[in-house]
Amino acid sequence: MSFPYEAPVSQSLFDRASAVTPGGVNSPVRAFRAVGGTPRFMVSGSGPYLTDADGREYVDLVCSWGPMILGHSRPEVIAAVQDAVARGTSFGTPGAGEVELAEEIVARVEPVEQVRLVSSGTEATMSAIRLARGFTGRPKVIKFAGCYHGHVDALLAAAGSGVATFGLPDTPGVTGAQAGDTIVLPYNDLEAVRAAFAAHPGEVACVITEASPGNMGVVPPLPGFNQGLKDLCAGNGALYISDEVMTGFRVSKAGWYGIDGVRPDLMTFGKVMGGGFPAAAFGGRADVMAHLAPAGPVYQAGTLSGNPIATAAGVAQLRLLDDAAYAKVDAVSAELRGLVTAALAKEGVAHRLQAAGNMFSVFFTDAEVTDYDTAKAQGAFRFTAFFHSMLSQGVYLPPSAFESWFVSTAHDAAAVERIAAALPAAARAAAEATA
Ligand code: PLP
Repeated sequence: MSFPYEAPVSQSLFDRASAVTPGGVNSPVRAFRAVGGTPRFMVSGSGPYLTDADGREYVDLVCSWGPMILGHSRPEVIAAVQDAVARGTSFGTPGAGEVELAEEIVARVEPVEQVRLVSSGTEATMSAIRLARGFTGRPKVIKFAGCYHGHVDALLAAAGSGVATFGLPDTPGVTGAQAGDTIVLPYNDLEAVRAAFAAHPGEVACVITEASPGNMGVVPPLPGFNQGLKDLCAGNGALYISDEVMTGFRVSKAGWYGIDGVRPDLMTFGKVMGGGFPAAAFGGRADVMAHLAPAGPVYQAGTLSGNPIATAAGVAQLRLLDDAAYAKVDAVSAELRGLVTAALAKEGVAHRLQAAGNMFSVFFTDAEVTDYDTAKAQGAFRFTAFFHSMLSQGVYLPPSAFESWFVSTAHDAAAVERIAAALPAAARAAAEATA
Protein backbone atom coordinates (compact mmCIF):
# COMPACT_ATOMS: atom_id res chain seq x y z
CA MET A 1 0.00 0.00 0.00
CA SER A 2 1.12 3.60 -0.49
CA PHE A 3 1.33 6.04 2.37
CA PRO A 4 -0.19 9.46 1.66
CA TYR A 5 1.90 11.36 4.18
CA GLU A 6 5.53 11.58 5.08
CA ALA A 7 7.55 11.62 8.24
CA PRO A 8 11.01 12.71 7.08
CA VAL A 9 12.60 13.18 10.50
CA SER A 10 11.29 9.83 11.75
CA GLN A 11 12.49 8.24 8.52
CA SER A 12 15.99 9.64 8.93
CA LEU A 13 16.10 8.50 12.58
CA PHE A 14 14.88 5.07 11.46
CA ASP A 15 17.65 4.92 8.84
CA ARG A 16 20.24 5.75 11.50
CA ALA A 17 18.66 3.27 13.92
CA SER A 18 18.63 0.52 11.31
CA ALA A 19 22.40 0.92 10.86
CA VAL A 20 23.14 0.32 14.54
CA THR A 21 20.17 -1.70 15.87
CA PRO A 22 18.65 -4.87 14.34
CA GLY A 23 15.56 -3.83 12.41
CA GLY A 24 15.96 -0.30 13.75
CA VAL A 25 14.07 -0.97 16.99
CA ASN A 26 14.53 -2.36 20.48
CA SER A 27 11.26 -4.30 20.52
CA PRO A 28 10.00 -5.83 17.25
CA VAL A 29 6.39 -4.62 17.03
CA ARG A 30 7.58 -0.99 17.10
CA ALA A 31 9.05 -1.41 13.62
CA PHE A 32 5.62 -1.23 11.89
CA ARG A 33 6.41 -4.38 9.87
CA ALA A 34 2.87 -5.71 10.24
CA VAL A 35 1.38 -2.51 8.81
CA GLY A 36 4.24 -1.10 6.72
CA GLY A 37 5.46 2.50 6.55
CA THR A 38 7.78 4.49 8.77
CA PRO A 39 7.64 3.95 12.52
CA ARG A 40 7.09 7.22 14.32
CA PHE A 41 9.89 8.32 16.64
CA MET A 42 8.21 10.07 19.53
CA VAL A 43 9.85 12.98 21.31
CA SER A 44 7.29 13.90 23.96
CA GLY A 45 4.02 12.94 25.55
CA SER A 46 1.46 15.03 27.41
CA GLY A 47 -1.86 13.71 28.71
CA PRO A 48 -3.49 11.69 25.89
CA TYR A 49 -1.13 13.03 23.22
CA LEU A 50 2.23 12.05 21.73
CA THR A 51 4.34 14.30 19.52
CA ASP A 52 6.69 12.79 16.95
CA ALA A 53 10.04 13.98 15.69
CA ASP A 54 8.34 15.68 12.74
CA GLY A 55 6.26 17.77 15.12
CA ARG A 56 2.99 15.95 14.44
CA GLU A 57 0.64 15.30 17.37
CA TYR A 58 -1.32 12.07 17.86
CA VAL A 59 -4.01 10.91 20.25
CA ASP A 60 -2.26 7.93 21.82
CA LEU A 61 -4.21 4.66 21.99
CA VAL A 62 -1.16 2.57 22.87
CA CYS A 63 -0.20 4.26 26.16
CA SER A 64 3.26 2.61 26.03
CA TRP A 65 1.45 -0.76 25.68
CA GLY A 66 -0.45 -0.21 28.89
CA PRO A 67 1.63 1.52 31.56
CA MET A 68 0.51 5.11 30.95
CA ILE A 69 -2.94 4.72 32.49
CA LEU A 70 -2.80 8.28 33.83
CA GLY A 71 -1.70 9.67 30.47
CA HIS A 72 1.75 11.07 29.73
CA SER A 73 3.69 13.38 32.05
CA ARG A 74 1.14 13.31 34.85
CA PRO A 75 2.48 16.06 37.16
CA GLU A 76 2.27 14.07 40.42
CA VAL A 77 4.24 11.15 38.91
CA ILE A 78 6.82 13.47 37.38
CA ALA A 79 7.22 15.25 40.74
CA ALA A 80 7.75 11.93 42.55
CA VAL A 81 10.38 10.94 39.98
CA GLN A 82 12.17 14.29 40.23
CA ASP A 83 12.20 14.04 44.00
CA ALA A 84 13.65 10.52 43.84
CA VAL A 85 16.23 11.38 41.17
CA ALA A 86 17.51 14.26 43.27
CA ARG A 87 18.39 11.75 46.00
CA GLY A 88 20.36 9.38 43.74
CA THR A 89 19.51 6.87 41.05
CA SER A 90 20.55 3.44 42.36
CA PHE A 91 22.02 2.17 45.61
CA GLY A 92 22.10 -1.61 45.33
CA THR A 93 20.77 -1.78 48.87
CA PRO A 94 17.25 -2.15 50.23
CA GLY A 95 15.26 1.10 50.16
CA ALA A 96 12.00 2.48 51.52
CA GLY A 97 10.47 2.85 48.03
CA GLU A 98 10.56 -0.92 47.47
CA VAL A 99 8.72 -1.52 50.72
CA GLU A 100 6.07 1.05 49.82
CA LEU A 101 5.50 -0.44 46.37
CA ALA A 102 5.33 -3.99 47.74
CA GLU A 103 2.88 -2.88 50.46
CA GLU A 104 0.73 -1.15 47.85
CA ILE A 105 0.59 -4.33 45.73
CA VAL A 106 -0.13 -6.60 48.70
CA ALA A 107 -2.87 -4.23 49.91
CA ARG A 108 -4.58 -4.18 46.50
CA VAL A 109 -4.38 -7.79 45.40
CA GLU A 110 -5.61 -10.06 48.16
CA PRO A 111 -3.99 -13.35 46.95
CA VAL A 112 -0.56 -11.68 47.00
CA GLU A 113 0.82 -12.27 50.47
CA GLN A 114 4.43 -11.63 49.47
CA VAL A 115 5.92 -10.06 46.37
CA ARG A 116 9.38 -9.80 44.76
CA LEU A 117 10.21 -6.82 42.54
CA VAL A 118 12.01 -7.25 39.21
CA SER A 119 12.57 -5.00 36.19
CA SER A 120 10.44 -6.45 33.38
CA GLY A 121 7.39 -8.61 32.84
CA THR A 122 9.62 -11.17 31.17
CA GLU A 123 11.70 -11.47 34.33
CA ALA A 124 8.52 -11.79 36.40
CA THR A 125 7.10 -14.74 34.43
CA MET A 126 10.50 -16.40 34.06
CA SER A 127 11.05 -16.22 37.81
CA ALA A 128 7.51 -17.34 38.66
CA ILE A 129 7.98 -20.45 36.53
CA ARG A 130 11.33 -21.23 38.09
CA LEU A 131 9.76 -20.85 41.51
CA ALA A 132 6.82 -23.10 40.55
CA ARG A 133 9.25 -25.77 39.36
CA GLY A 134 11.41 -25.38 42.46
CA PHE A 135 8.40 -25.53 44.78
CA THR A 136 6.73 -28.55 43.18
CA GLY A 137 9.87 -30.39 42.06
CA ARG A 138 8.17 -30.96 38.70
CA PRO A 139 9.39 -30.00 35.22
CA LYS A 140 6.41 -29.27 32.95
CA VAL A 141 4.60 -26.00 32.27
CA ILE A 142 1.23 -25.66 30.55
CA LYS A 143 0.68 -22.47 28.54
CA PHE A 144 -1.88 -21.42 25.95
CA ALA A 145 -1.42 -20.63 22.28
CA GLY A 146 -1.73 -16.87 21.71
CA CYS A 147 -0.80 -15.99 25.30
CA TYR A 148 2.39 -13.95 25.52
CA HIS A 149 4.38 -13.98 28.72
CA GLY A 150 7.46 -12.07 27.57
CA HIS A 151 10.42 -13.54 25.72
CA VAL A 152 11.15 -16.31 28.21
CA ASP A 153 12.71 -19.24 26.30
CA ALA A 154 10.31 -21.83 27.68
CA LEU A 155 7.30 -19.61 26.96
CA LEU A 156 8.04 -18.61 23.37
CA ALA A 157 6.10 -21.52 21.99
CA ALA A 158 2.95 -20.35 20.15
CA ALA A 159 3.15 -16.95 21.87
CA GLY A 160 1.05 -13.95 20.91
CA SER A 161 2.11 -10.28 20.67
CA GLY A 162 5.09 -9.73 18.34
CA VAL A 163 5.31 -13.47 17.76
CA ALA A 164 1.68 -13.41 16.57
CA THR A 165 2.36 -10.35 14.46
CA PHE A 166 5.17 -12.04 12.60
CA GLY A 167 3.50 -15.43 12.41
CA LEU A 168 6.52 -17.20 13.91
CA PRO A 169 5.41 -20.43 15.54
CA ASP A 170 8.62 -20.52 17.52
CA THR A 171 11.96 -18.82 17.45
CA PRO A 172 15.43 -20.01 16.50
CA GLY A 173 17.70 -19.93 19.53
CA VAL A 174 15.26 -21.76 21.80
CA THR A 175 16.49 -25.32 22.17
CA GLY A 176 14.38 -28.43 22.37
CA ALA A 177 15.48 -28.78 25.98
CA GLN A 178 14.23 -25.29 26.84
CA ALA A 179 10.85 -25.70 25.15
CA GLY A 180 10.49 -29.46 25.60
CA ASP A 181 8.85 -29.18 29.00
CA THR A 182 6.30 -26.66 27.72
CA ILE A 183 2.88 -28.01 26.81
CA VAL A 184 0.99 -25.60 24.54
CA LEU A 185 -2.80 -25.92 24.52
CA PRO A 186 -5.64 -24.07 22.80
CA TYR A 187 -6.97 -21.17 24.87
CA ASN A 188 -10.40 -21.50 26.50
CA ASP A 189 -10.29 -25.31 26.18
CA LEU A 190 -10.56 -26.91 29.63
CA GLU A 191 -10.88 -30.40 28.17
CA ALA A 192 -7.41 -30.04 26.65
CA VAL A 193 -6.02 -29.05 30.05
CA ARG A 194 -7.72 -32.00 31.70
CA ALA A 195 -6.25 -34.34 29.06
CA ALA A 196 -2.75 -32.86 29.49
CA PHE A 197 -2.83 -33.44 33.25
CA ALA A 198 -4.02 -37.01 32.62
CA ALA A 199 -1.23 -37.62 30.09
CA HIS A 200 1.51 -36.28 32.40
CA PRO A 201 0.62 -37.40 35.94
CA GLY A 202 2.79 -35.78 38.62
CA GLU A 203 4.85 -33.89 36.04
CA VAL A 204 3.10 -30.52 35.66
CA ALA A 205 4.55 -27.77 37.87
CA CYS A 206 2.14 -25.04 36.81
CA VAL A 207 -0.37 -23.65 34.39
CA ILE A 208 0.44 -20.10 33.31
CA THR A 209 -2.22 -18.03 31.58
CA GLU A 210 -2.81 -14.38 30.84
CA ALA A 211 -5.50 -13.44 33.36
CA SER A 212 -7.46 -12.18 30.36
CA PRO A 213 -5.42 -12.34 27.16
CA GLY A 214 -4.55 -9.14 25.33
CA ASN A 215 -1.68 -10.39 23.17
CA MET A 216 -3.68 -12.06 20.38
CA GLY A 217 -6.01 -9.08 20.44
CA VAL A 218 -8.41 -9.06 23.38
CA VAL A 219 -9.80 -12.57 23.98
CA PRO A 220 -11.40 -12.81 27.42
CA PRO A 221 -11.66 -16.14 29.24
CA LEU A 222 -15.03 -17.84 28.71
CA PRO A 223 -17.15 -18.03 31.89
CA GLY A 224 -15.66 -20.64 34.22
CA PHE A 225 -12.37 -21.04 32.33
CA ASN A 226 -10.06 -19.48 34.91
CA GLN A 227 -11.91 -21.21 37.78
CA GLY A 228 -11.60 -24.49 35.87
CA LEU A 229 -7.85 -23.97 35.52
CA LYS A 230 -7.54 -23.22 39.20
CA ASP A 231 -9.52 -26.36 40.12
CA LEU A 232 -7.51 -28.59 37.77
CA CYS A 233 -4.26 -27.23 39.19
CA ALA A 234 -5.44 -27.75 42.77
CA GLY A 235 -6.62 -31.29 41.96
CA ASN A 236 -3.30 -32.21 40.35
CA GLY A 237 -0.82 -30.61 42.76
CA ALA A 238 0.21 -27.89 40.27
CA LEU A 239 0.34 -24.12 40.77
CA TYR A 240 -2.03 -21.74 38.95
CA ILE A 241 -0.07 -18.71 37.73
CA SER A 242 -2.09 -15.75 36.54
CA ASP A 243 -0.05 -13.38 34.36
CA GLU A 244 -1.41 -9.91 35.10
CA VAL A 245 1.47 -7.98 33.52
CA MET A 246 -1.04 -6.36 31.17
CA THR A 247 -4.28 -6.46 33.17
CA GLY A 248 -2.75 -5.81 36.62
CA PHE A 249 -3.78 -2.42 38.09
CA ARG A 250 -5.26 -1.57 34.67
CA VAL A 251 -8.68 -3.18 34.51
CA SER A 252 -9.44 -2.58 38.21
CA LYS A 253 -7.63 -1.73 41.46
CA ALA A 254 -6.83 -5.44 41.81
CA GLY A 255 -6.52 -6.12 38.08
CA TRP A 256 -8.36 -9.06 36.51
CA TYR A 257 -8.48 -10.74 39.94
CA GLY A 258 -10.69 -7.80 40.97
CA ILE A 259 -13.08 -8.78 38.17
CA ASP A 260 -13.20 -12.59 38.24
CA GLY A 261 -12.12 -13.29 41.83
CA VAL A 262 -10.34 -16.56 40.94
CA ARG A 263 -7.49 -16.92 43.41
CA PRO A 264 -4.11 -17.73 41.81
CA ASP A 265 -1.20 -19.34 43.63
CA LEU A 266 1.22 -16.93 41.94
CA MET A 267 0.69 -13.74 39.94
CA THR A 268 2.91 -11.61 37.74
CA PHE A 269 2.75 -7.84 37.24
CA GLY A 270 4.48 -5.12 35.22
CA LYS A 271 3.47 -2.17 33.05
CA VAL A 272 1.10 0.02 35.19
CA MET A 273 2.92 -0.71 38.47
CA GLY A 274 6.10 0.96 37.15
CA GLY A 275 4.52 4.27 36.17
CA GLY A 276 6.42 4.18 32.86
CA PHE A 277 9.68 2.92 34.39
CA PRO A 278 11.11 -0.62 34.31
CA ALA A 279 9.44 -2.22 37.31
CA ALA A 280 7.61 -5.53 37.48
CA ALA A 281 6.86 -8.14 40.12
CA PHE A 282 5.73 -11.63 40.94
CA GLY A 283 4.03 -12.69 44.12
CA GLY A 284 1.39 -14.84 45.74
CA ARG A 285 1.14 -17.50 48.44
CA ALA A 286 3.59 -16.86 51.27
CA ASP A 287 4.46 -20.58 51.58
CA VAL A 288 5.46 -20.64 47.91
CA MET A 289 7.32 -17.31 47.97
CA ALA A 290 9.26 -18.59 51.02
CA HIS A 291 11.15 -20.86 48.62
CA LEU A 292 12.88 -17.84 47.03
CA ALA A 293 16.46 -16.90 47.95
CA PRO A 294 17.58 -15.75 50.46
CA ALA A 295 14.62 -17.20 52.41
CA GLY A 296 14.74 -20.44 50.42
CA PRO A 297 16.75 -22.32 47.79
CA VAL A 298 15.29 -20.99 44.48
CA TYR A 299 17.70 -18.36 43.19
CA GLN A 300 16.48 -15.05 41.79
CA ALA A 301 18.15 -11.62 41.85
CA GLY A 302 18.64 -8.28 40.04
CA THR A 303 21.12 -5.37 40.18
CA LEU A 304 18.39 -2.83 39.47
CA SER A 305 15.47 -4.67 41.09
CA GLY A 306 13.44 -2.24 43.21
CA ASN A 307 15.21 0.74 41.64
CA PRO A 308 14.37 3.91 43.61
CA ILE A 309 13.20 5.95 40.60
CA ALA A 310 11.01 3.15 39.27
CA THR A 311 9.48 2.42 42.66
CA ALA A 312 8.81 6.13 43.29
CA ALA A 313 7.01 6.38 39.93
CA GLY A 314 5.06 3.18 40.58
CA VAL A 315 3.95 4.18 44.07
CA ALA A 316 2.89 7.64 42.86
CA GLN A 317 0.93 6.17 39.96
CA LEU A 318 -0.80 3.46 42.01
CA ARG A 319 -1.83 5.94 44.72
CA LEU A 320 -3.59 8.05 42.09
CA LEU A 321 -5.45 5.01 40.77
CA ASP A 322 -8.57 5.11 42.93
CA ASP A 323 -12.12 4.01 42.08
CA ALA A 324 -12.82 7.32 40.34
CA ALA A 325 -9.78 6.88 38.07
CA TYR A 326 -10.90 3.38 36.99
CA ALA A 327 -14.45 4.64 36.44
CA LYS A 328 -13.02 7.31 34.16
CA VAL A 329 -10.89 4.88 32.13
CA ASP A 330 -13.80 2.43 31.86
CA ALA A 331 -16.13 5.20 30.63
CA VAL A 332 -13.69 6.45 27.99
CA SER A 333 -13.11 2.89 26.82
CA ALA A 334 -16.88 2.24 26.53
CA GLU A 335 -17.40 5.47 24.60
CA LEU A 336 -14.60 4.69 22.15
CA ARG A 337 -15.79 1.13 21.64
CA GLY A 338 -19.21 2.47 20.72
CA LEU A 339 -17.75 4.97 18.29
CA VAL A 340 -15.43 2.45 16.61
CA THR A 341 -18.07 -0.20 16.12
CA ALA A 342 -20.64 2.33 14.85
CA ALA A 343 -18.19 3.71 12.28
CA LEU A 344 -17.26 0.22 11.02
CA ALA A 345 -20.91 -0.91 10.96
CA LYS A 346 -21.87 2.18 8.96
CA GLU A 347 -19.41 1.14 6.26
CA GLY A 348 -20.58 -2.48 6.40
CA VAL A 349 -17.21 -3.77 7.67
CA ALA A 350 -17.48 -7.20 9.29
CA HIS A 351 -15.88 -6.89 12.72
CA ARG A 352 -16.01 -7.91 16.33
CA LEU A 353 -15.07 -5.52 19.05
CA GLN A 354 -13.95 -7.50 22.12
CA ALA A 355 -13.28 -6.00 25.53
CA ALA A 356 -11.84 -7.09 28.85
CA GLY A 357 -12.57 -4.33 31.34
CA ASN A 358 -11.20 -1.17 29.71
CA MET A 359 -8.88 -3.07 27.32
CA PHE A 360 -10.33 -3.69 23.88
CA SER A 361 -9.45 -4.53 20.29
CA VAL A 362 -11.15 -4.96 16.94
CA PHE A 363 -11.10 -8.20 14.97
CA PHE A 364 -11.93 -7.89 11.29
CA THR A 365 -14.20 -10.94 11.19
CA ASP A 366 -17.80 -11.64 12.11
CA ALA A 367 -17.02 -14.89 13.93
CA GLU A 368 -16.55 -14.99 17.70
CA VAL A 369 -12.88 -14.98 18.69
CA THR A 370 -12.17 -17.32 21.57
CA ASP A 371 -8.65 -18.58 20.86
CA TYR A 372 -5.54 -18.03 18.77
CA ASP A 373 -6.85 -19.88 15.70
CA THR A 374 -10.02 -17.80 15.52
CA ALA A 375 -7.96 -14.63 16.16
CA LYS A 376 -5.62 -15.45 13.27
CA ALA A 377 -8.58 -16.09 10.94
CA GLN A 378 -9.43 -12.35 10.82
CA GLY A 379 -8.82 -10.20 7.73
CA ALA A 380 -5.81 -8.34 9.15
CA PHE A 381 -5.35 -6.49 5.82
CA ARG A 382 -8.37 -4.37 6.75
CA PHE A 383 -6.64 -3.36 9.97
CA THR A 384 -3.63 -2.15 7.96
CA ALA A 385 -5.80 0.25 5.96
CA PHE A 386 -7.68 1.34 9.08
CA PHE A 387 -4.43 1.90 10.99
CA HIS A 388 -2.83 4.08 8.32
CA SER A 389 -5.93 6.20 7.88
CA MET A 390 -6.07 6.82 11.64
CA LEU A 391 -2.33 7.55 11.76
CA SER A 392 -2.56 10.08 8.93
CA GLN A 393 -5.37 11.79 10.85
CA GLY A 394 -3.38 11.98 14.08
CA VAL A 395 -4.51 8.87 15.99
CA TYR A 396 -1.81 6.41 17.09
CA LEU A 397 -3.10 2.83 17.25
CA PRO A 398 -1.03 -0.27 18.05
CA PRO A 399 0.73 -1.13 14.77
CA SER A 400 -0.67 -4.68 14.68
CA ALA A 401 -4.12 -6.29 14.52
CA PHE A 402 -3.10 -8.60 17.38
CA GLU A 403 -2.70 -6.06 20.18
CA SER A 404 -4.99 -4.45 22.73
CA TRP A 405 -5.80 -0.73 22.52
CA PHE A 406 -5.23 1.24 25.72
CA VAL A 407 -6.79 4.43 27.07
CA SER A 408 -6.07 6.57 30.12
CA THR A 409 -7.68 8.96 32.58
CA ALA A 410 -6.26 11.77 30.43
CA HIS A 411 -8.37 10.85 27.39
CA ASP A 412 -10.82 13.73 27.72
CA ALA A 413 -13.67 14.92 25.49
CA ALA A 414 -11.27 16.75 23.15
CA ALA A 415 -9.18 13.60 22.59
CA VAL A 416 -12.30 11.48 22.04
CA GLU A 417 -13.61 14.08 19.58
CA ARG A 418 -10.37 13.84 17.55
CA ILE A 419 -10.71 10.08 17.38
CA ALA A 420 -14.40 10.33 16.45
CA ALA A 421 -13.54 12.72 13.63
CA ALA A 422 -10.95 10.29 12.21
CA LEU A 423 -13.11 7.17 12.33
CA PRO A 424 -15.40 7.61 9.28
CA ALA A 425 -12.51 7.82 6.79
CA ALA A 426 -10.66 4.98 8.52
CA ALA A 427 -13.75 2.76 8.41
CA ARG A 428 -14.12 3.56 4.71
CA ALA A 429 -10.48 2.65 4.14
CA ALA A 430 -11.05 -0.66 5.94
CA ALA A 431 -14.14 -1.34 3.81
CA GLU A 432 -12.25 -0.63 0.58
CA ALA A 433 -9.10 -2.60 1.53
CA THR A 434 -8.15 -5.64 -0.52
CA ALA A 435 -6.13 -8.59 0.70
N1 PLP B 1 3.17 -10.90 30.19
C1 PLP B 1 2.21 -10.24 29.51
C2 PLP B 1 0.77 -10.64 29.66
C3 PLP B 1 2.55 -9.18 28.66
O1 PLP B 1 1.60 -8.53 27.99
C4 PLP B 1 3.92 -8.82 28.55
C5 PLP B 1 4.34 -7.74 27.65
O2 PLP B 1 3.60 -7.22 26.86
C6 PLP B 1 4.88 -9.54 29.28
C7 PLP B 1 4.47 -10.58 30.08
C8 PLP B 1 6.34 -9.21 29.18
O3 PLP B 1 6.58 -7.97 29.79
P1 PLP B 1 7.88 -7.13 29.41
O4 PLP B 1 7.66 -6.63 28.02
O5 PLP B 1 7.92 -6.05 30.44
O6 PLP B 1 9.05 -8.05 29.51
